[in-house]
Amino acid sequence: MAARTYTARQLVVDAQQVHAGGGVVVNDAGEVVAVLEGPGALRRRAEGELVDLGEGVLAPGWVNAHVHLELTGLEGRVEAGEAFPDWIRALLRERTGLTDSDFEDAVRDGAKRLLVGGTTTVGDVDSTGAATRVLAQHQLRAVVLREVLDLGDAARREELLAQINAPLVSGERLSFGISPHAGYTVSDELLSALGGGGEQPVQVHWNETKEEADWERGLSSAFDGLVMPSPQGTTLERLDRAGLLRRPVSLVHANYPGEVDASFLRERGVSIVHCPGAHAWFGRAPFDASRWMTEGVDVALGTDSLAGNEALDMRLEVAAFREAHPGVGPEQAFEVATRAGARALGMEGRVGELCVGAHADMVLYDCEGPALEALTSGQPQVQRVWVAGGEISLGTGCTP
Ligand SMILES: [Zn+2]
Repeated sequence: MAARTYTARQLVVDAQQVHAGGGVVVNDAGEVVAVLEGPGALRRRAEGELVDLGEGVLAPGWVNAHVHLELTGLEGRVEAGEAFPDWIRALLRERTGLTDSDFEDAVRDGAKRLLVGGTTTVGDVDSTGAATRVLAQHQLRAVVLREVLDLGDAARREELLAQINAPLVSGERLSFGISPHAGYTVSDELLSALGGGGEQPVQVHWNETKEEADWERGLSSAFDGLVMPSPQGTTLERLDRAGLLRRPVSLVHANYPGEVDASFLRERGVSIVHCPGAHAWFGRAPFDASRWMTEGVDVALGTDSLAGNEALDMRLEVAAFREAHPGVGPEQAFEVATRAGARALGMEGRVGELCVGAHADMVLYDCEGPALEALTSGQPQVQRVWVAGGEISLGTGCTP
């Protein structure tokens, strides 16, 4: 494929740059090599075939910073329960008996749902290996976050570390990170073994529930007897001690963060991933986005899994985020659902925007009015999707 120039009525390069009648030049490697700011630049600098997308809005795909695609098959099968441990037990019950091929089908199904809604990059937590196998050959771009938890069991830890250090399948659109599941399921020994080297992004479920916050402080909670004894220090202190806060790090949920100093997170470049749909599904207390955003801590968005949400659609997540936070405008909301996710996953400058050097992961929407308002406040209709400059067939399945 030689270079192509894509133009549309409105071109969204990122949350700060929207051009009427501009275009992007995409090379044969599927990367953006020029941004043309308006019709004049388009006339002078278009290269290769000119692809006129007409009246639509061309924008970077969403970055879904946290999902468990392997659980897509559990849609509607798990209830929130009275306390979080009830949900965990119900989830484990439903997972029992699922085969490798069930998990692989779930990953395929979930990946397709994401693409159809305009998500082109995902941070996907993989506890079974299914996501790694499927996404290595899939059109969706993914950072597969390999989940580890040892519950303090030394034998299990050794086994996990051997798996983690084994060679990985590669894929053009696949990269890897690591996900120590949560403070209450991962020992200090495992954290320090993971922190020893490498630059892979890290993602941890963090203070999703009051039970976890109480556990962290050594108070008794519904977690007693289910997870490890309360540790020395907070989860953040333990991650920091293990050297894991020196990489791209995202903390998922942060619903009960307590008295954490935001500057501690900001200085280490830690991102918070908020999952509005899952938050509502579990009926959590309001998420304090402004606390983080006013202190300069990145907030990104994720869908989490269909075991605790009703859809895998970032259009719904960003709209729900705006609805719950009326002070957040369209630019900020678009940033949160795109580039903030890229930063959370260590993909800054490569996804979540159509700048020079980014992957040409693009979505064409049919929507009215100012582009960023329309993209972040309703459910703009997705017409076409490209990943790495290649168009995805949305109607006939999403595997190559
Ligand atoms: Zn999760």
